[in-house]
Amino acid sequence: MNYIFHYDIAAILICIIVGGLFFSKKHFPSKSNRLFLCIGALIITASVFDIISVYSLNHIGTFPLWLNYIVNQIYFFSFNCIYIVYLIYLLLITEQNKDRCGKVMKVVNTFALLYITLSIVLTPWLKTIFYFENDQYMHGPLHISLYIIAFTMLGGCIFTIITSKRKINNMHLVTTCVIAIIAIAAVIIQFVWNDLLLVNFVASLMYFMLFHSLQNPDEYLDKELDIFNMKAFLQKIVNLHDKKKKFTVLAFEMEGFQFVDQFMGVERGNDLLATVVKDCNKGLKGEMYHLDGTRFAYIFDQKSKDIEEHAEWLKWRFVTAFHVKRVAVNLTVRMCTVDFPEVASTREEMLNAIDSALEFAKEENSYDVVIATKEMTEKHQRSAIISHILKSAVRNKSFEVYFQPIYSIEDKAFSAAEALVRLRDEELGFIPPDEFIPIAEQTGLILEVGDIVFHKVCDFLQSENVQDLGIRYVEVNLSMVQCMQEDLHKHLKSIMDKYQIPYNMIDFEVTETFSTSDNRILMNNMANLIDSGCTFAVDDYGTGFSNTDYLIEFPFDLVKLDKSVVWAATDNDKAMKVLEHTAAMIKSLGLKIVAEGVETFEQALMLRSIGCDFLQGYYFSKPVPPVEYVEFMKTADKCIKEKLTDRLAMLS
Ligand code: C2E
Ligand code: CA
Ligand code: CA
Repeated sequence: MNYIFHYDIAAILICIIVGGLFFSKKHFPSKSNRLFLCIGALIITASVFDIISVYSLNHIGTFPLWLNYIVNQIYFFSFNCIYIVYLIYLLLITEQNKDRCGKVMKVVNTFALLYITLSIVLTPWLKTIFYFENDQYMHGPLHISLYIIAFTMLGGCIFTIITSKRKINNMHLVTTCVIAIIAIAAVIIQFVWNDLLLVNFVASLMYFMLFHSLQNPDEYLDKELDIFNMKAFLQKIVNLHDKKKKFTVLAFEMEGFQFVDQFMGVERGNDLLATVVKDCNKGLKGEMYHLDGTRFAYIFDQKSKDIEEHAEWLKWRFVTAFHVKRVAVNLTVRMCTVDFPEVASTREEMLNAIDSALEFAKEENSYDVVIATKEMTEKHQRSAIISHILKSAVRNKSFEVYFQPIYSIEDKAFSAAEALVRLRDEELGFIPPDEFIPIAEQTGLILEVGDIVFHKVCDFLQSENVQDLGIRYVEVNLSMVQCMQEDLHKHLKSIMDKYQIPYNMIDFEVTETFSTSDNRILMNNMANLIDSGCTFAVDDYGTGFSNTDYLIEFPFDLVKLDKSVVWAATDNDKAMKVLEHTAAMIKSLGLKIVAEGVETFEQALMLRSIGCDFLQGYYFSKPVPPVEYVEFMKTADKCIKEKLTDRLAMLS
């Protein structure tokens, strides 16, 4: 027979071109990439052996029979395997290899492979697929079964593509199906016209289309930086995990890009990132992965000395500036290591651990390598949960406001109270404000939280007959994030107006940390509110830097001694001396003092003796819900008489 084998030559060329394109780019050694290359290799093998078999059949006299058998066997085997591997490949990239349908197809695949292997291997003896008679190549009775298997596999491919869970765009879906149908047609054509060796050519076309549609060599690549991306990182973890390997990830995050983005444009920022990555790639060995933003990672064997060397190198490199368009930019780097599987045992846990350890490095302002621990991750996760709870509490305005009475030594009465926010969750119970306020500040939710609290305070003051209860004012905590809002004063006044609350019924507490922020905005807010009649207190006095400039600079009326200062003075003579001098200094500036955390009568006496004007603490009352606070105020007189008579009298 005169076989037309030119299509086979074209098939080989197409596969070589696709292979060349594939290898011309950086590629990740993933399973799907390996299967993709395997399909190409099978098409080339099938085509090469198809051509050889044509030649050997034409020279059957000169070629020994056994060689003819082997050549044809290899051809049949590689040709049939193309579609089996193709199906496995599709199942993998459409992420269906693990579901039920995928498993069934895998079983079918295994049987098909077993069948073709046996039938092809045994064909010289059983004459099942083909045989030679009088130097003539003949089809065996099971010859057709190989075509049926190829059909089935191609049908499976179409089914896999159509039912894919992964989002495949319509163009790719249609091309993949059309090409599979053409492949089926080619198999039929070749079955009918035996001399037309078309199937490998069609398979190579299918391969080419695959390369341009579903097979995405960039899938694991950050094209701009030419390094592996997050997907590759996660895949690598899965691969190492499957091999039961222990390893350590060194992750790092660069900081300082905002400056470039802001003043030179995002494009320059990207240029700078590319320069930095190039530098790191030159200075460090091993594969670098781009996780996201300015976050990168390396993977090492556990306890490898390279980890330390890499960290040292990074530290050293980031001391000197990087250059973008001849502008020197100083960047900083935070680093952490995570042990797998000790600290993180899945890829999700790995990402969480990196997140929390880098977050920890930022919180602690550490430029050393932070070794991730499970506790760090747990804390981080709790923060994530709390931020979620906060969001829904903001949505439902479900914060509560408690009031803690404040005793005025001069008035001999509980003439004020501090409003303290409370957050309750069904699962976590009461979440302390010390824990959720910083999270609210980080997430920006504090503005809404502050608003809700202030509305509730004003609502309380409006609904109760506060003057009769002897409440002269309420202290409301303001976060620095709120104070940095240009129009905070207008906003707060509009709320007080809405509830018709006299401005002098509110005293705002601001913490010492303000000394590090933009003073102008705070000053403007304070000046406007004070002009209207509000007052301001410095909160947590004595916990921050001992910088007293702001007591002179800002128009405060009150200074709130933090409970830690009060408690320290109770136990320690030196701390007591410091407190005495502090109190005297504050008084000399004409400011009033509120002492917080008063838990015992002795503390109250001591605080009175050093000149405190107001006392607040568990000794008098814990923070309580509005109803209880009203009750407290109604019975406070009685309470003083009955329970604290003599003692409180001593305070006056
Ligand atoms: P802070 O402003 O220093 O409030 C005083 C804290 O000390 C309150 O804790 C109060 O319950 C507690 N305290 C008062 N007396 C005693 C005592 O005798 N013994 C003990 N052990 N503790 C006492 P709380 O309510 O847990 O609030 C913690 C912090 O959360 C507050 O500290 C404040 O910084 C913040 N915070 C609370 N409510 C708000 C709010 O509405 N807005 C803002 N921005 N922060 C708030
Ligand atoms: Ca306070
Ligand atoms: Ca405090």
